[in-house]
Amino acid sequence: MAKNRKTTGRAAKKASVAKALVKAVRAAAKPPKARRTQHVYFFGNGRADGDRTMKDTLGGKGSGLAEMTNAGLPVPPGFTISTGVCNIYYAQGGKIPSEIEREVEESLRKLEKAAGKRLGSVENPLLVSVRSGAKFSMPGMMDTILNLGLNDQTVEGLKAKTGNGRFAFDSYRRFIQMFGNVVLGIPKDRFEHAFEAVKHERGAKLDTDLDEAGLREVVKRYKDVAQRASKKAFPQDPLEQLRGARDAVFKSWMNQRAKDYRRIYEIPDHIGTAVNVQAMVFGNTGDRSATGVGFTRNPATGAKEFFGEFLVNAQGEDVVAGIRTPQPIAELEKVMPKAYKELRTITTRLERHYKDVQDFEFTIEDDQLYMLQTRNGKRTGYAAVVIATDMAAERIITPREALLQVEPMALSQLLAPVFDPAEWKKLPTATRGLPASPGAASGQVVFTADHAVEWTQQGKRVLLVRKETVPDDIHGMEVAQGVLTATGGMTSHAAVVGRQMGKPSVVGAGELRISERDRTVSIGGQTIKEGEWASFDGLTGEVKVGQVATKPSEILQVLAGRMKPESSDIYQRFDKLLKWADKERTLGIRANADLPDQAELAYAFGARGIGLCRTEHMFFGEGRIEKVQRMILADNEADRRAALQELLPLQRGDFYGVFKAMHGEPVTIRTIDPPLHEFLPKREDLMVEIAKLEATKQAGRVLEEKRQLLQRVEQLHEFNPMLGHRGVRLGITYPEITEMQARAIFEAAAQLAKEGIRVVPEVMIPLVGHVKELRDQKVIVDRVAADVMKEQGVKLKYLVGTMIEVPRGAITADEVAQEAQFFSFGTNDLTQLTFGFSRDDAGKFLAIYQEKKILERDPFASIDAAGVGQLVTMAVERGRKTRPEIKLGVCGEHGGDPSSVHFFHQAGLDYVSMSPYRVPVARLAAAHAAMSVKVGD
Ligand code: ADP
Ligand code: MG
Ligand code: MG
Repeated sequence: MAKNRKTTGRAAKKASVAKALVKAVRAAAKPPKARRTQHVYFFGNGRADGDRTMKDTLGGKGSGLAEMTNAGLPVPPGFTISTGVCNIYYAQGGKIPSEIEREVEESLRKLEKAAGKRLGSVENPLLVSVRSGAKFSMPGMMDTILNLGLNDQTVEGLKAKTGNGRFAFDSYRRFIQMFGNVVLGIPKDRFEHAFEAVKHERGAKLDTDLDEAGLREVVKRYKDVAQRASKKAFPQDPLEQLRGARDAVFKSWMNQRAKDYRRIYEIPDHIGTAVNVQAMVFGNTGDRSATGVGFTRNPATGAKEFFGEFLVNAQGEDVVAGIRTPQPIAELEKVMPKAYKELRTITTRLERHYKDVQDFEFTIEDDQLYMLQTRNGKRTGYAAVVIATDMAAERIITPREALLQVEPMALSQLLAPVFDPAEWKKLPTATRGLPASPGAASGQVVFTADHAVEWTQQGKRVLLVRKETVPDDIHGMEVAQGVLTATGGMTSHAAVVGRQMGKPSVVGAGELRISERDRTVSIGGQTIKEGEWASFDGLTGEVKVGQVATKPSEILQVLAGRMKPESSDIYQRFDKLLKWADKERTLGIRANADLPDQAELAYAFGARGIGLCRTEHMFFGEGRIEKVQRMILADNEADRRAALQELLPLQRGDFYGVFKAMHGEPVTIRTIDPPLHEFLPKREDLMVEIAKLEATKQAGRVLEEKRQLLQRVEQLHEFNPMLGHRGVRLGITYPEITEMQARAIFEAAAQLAKEGIRVVPEVMIPLVGHVKELRDQKVIVDRVAADVMKEQGVKLKYLVGTMIEVPRGAITADEVAQEAQFFSFGTNDLTQLTFGFSRDDAGKFLAIYQEKKILERDPFASIDAAGVGQLVTMAVERGRKTRPEIKLGVCGEHGGDPSSVHFFHQAGLDYVSMSPYRVPVARLAAAHAAMSVKVGD
């Protein structure tokens, strides 16, 4: 701020003196040697070493615990071992250096002091939880270990101290199971079987029906399970337990589920996870205790309502594990009103503090509330838009902050189809589940994630139906139309992941009876086999048997004029948000559209201009392909001109429509680009047809024509069509094609000019690698333009430019700019030619490249900034040097990819262009790009 203000000479001098002073004071205050790096961060008694800004070091969970502690909220004390230690652990081959071990021990002493208990003490035992926590929350990571510090002695101590033997042994059996599973790698079901056996023997229905004696028996059997599986007695030394648990957290960072999750969400491997060690509080001491999770607003719909679930007399994961069905959080007000009130006050405060919806976890021990976690809540795209616009209206955030709250890709979820209500009503509701993630889903039922993937690859639409999803199912969830589960609540895995992916999901449809072995599911009495259709509505939770047609989202209906904006709440919010975005962004937004109706949709979505109109797409229209073929088959110029003459009025009509749909905004039209054989029938097909005709001995004209066609197809055959006779090379060898296309463009513009609509056509010559190629074509375009203007008696403004998509074109951009009035980066071909990856064949190996981390992302989806991107920046610089006013844009697929949009913003382009459906995403991404530059984020 002050930097921008003009300062008088005296003031400037004063300022510099002050600066020098500050510097000197700082230098004096600094200890002579650099302080050793801190690896462990304490929190407790209202003070924490860390805070909300330290997610990189403390992970999300650790930073939230520190921030809540500093805010004076009731958080059990503990410490966070930093994410850096995770990297050290791996670098040292799975060891923790002794100085860090010492730091951990120091922190443990501090924790014991704060809690007034000691780890391993029988009289007054400290129990802790060991929790993983990376910068980004990752459902595929380690399970939390609770009640660590219990052993055969301390459990008796806990009983003596609390006078509650049931509670002590309930805690111990939970600990053995969690530690056994997570640290010793013993499958959970071994413990579950032992537990069920005891319950059965003692006639207990619920877990909570077992008394102390029953739980002592469970503990005994659990220890046997552990001993048999690990060939060692269950570890009794609390310090050994703690080290084992800590190392298990670090190990879990590299387990397959976690790696898969990071790959899907593009989270780098090197950031590591932190470990949180925290004094236990107990939700399982009896009926005055509980544990729960919640959100400050509804994460599925965005509605402003307190949202969540809890269980009385339970611990930790019980709520999400689906063992007992949790109660909705509103019930808490009745059973524990004081704790409920406090929870509402605290979470409302947290929401205002973080300026975002909070996803929180809490435990109530004997009516006393404790906060165990808070983070910004994951939400559906739908909810994101509702929440951002609501919070701005409530003045909790500014419109700019509202923009930053919404991921650009979330907007594409809002465009997802919904059911046609009339069709939907025709089927009876078979059952209901919890509406975990909105959207209409209709598909063929499959029961495993692997089948979901296989069937989808065969072109089928599938619905993944599971008892409960686990992180291993994520690949199936990704491809399914929707996910339906029989158990689990609104915060179960399927629900959380579904919302995050924008995948329609209904969970906890308790009436489903799934038999994975028979591959059937019974829904409300009807048995469905794998492959039969089912449908559900993720917004209401209704499930139906059969297929239901889907229809466009409300937003699309409004844009298409089939619904009034006033009657769609979500449209109004969507529109408001994007208008805010338009105020922030500096990049222009155009769309790639070939036909008038696409152009209209793009305009309605907010595109102001066409960045790429591919003329050849028009060649495939009704009754046109024959004319195109005649043009290609002509073996002399006169015949070719005759065929082109027939195409001219058709192209002129298309251009007229596209220009008109854009209301005078710029339209870039690319001259013919693909190799000609793409317009001819396949060689093999022709050979079959000819053989058939020959077999029936039908000589005559048809056969003769087919033979000619085959001959021409064979002539046109190329070994590398992508590198062959295409792009500007076609216009150079057949100038009459360029001539006809230019004429169609200018005649359409002239017609509009006469109707009072001014358009400035931008004629784009593709695949230019040498300035002389462009010069050759520009002469034709200029000549035709002059002719048309004279014939029609109108003056037209127009530009001639090129696509930069051949590396040589980028490298010699200064020369190319002598002729080109604009550049449009064709990043698809530019990527193909820079890597030497055939776009059509790269699928075979790119997945493996990504798996092996040779490439982090698919360079055809997200621009390769380090390589292809350099060609872009180089061409921008060189092009501007020759022609400072040159217009610069991008029209490859990357124009609709948020991180690529950031790149293009920074590269200084004037606009990005993408498919019409991505226009909203790009508008928001461009605003984010502009803001991050200003904010310096
Ligand atoms: P996740 O990352 O899977 O959410 P957490 O580390 O948050 O795992 O732990 C899950 C649950 O375990 C918490 O929601 C809470 O109920 C329970 N928990 C964790 N630490 C403690 C603690 N110190 N005292 C009581 N319960 C705890
Ligand atoms: Mg967990
Ligand atoms: Mg948690």
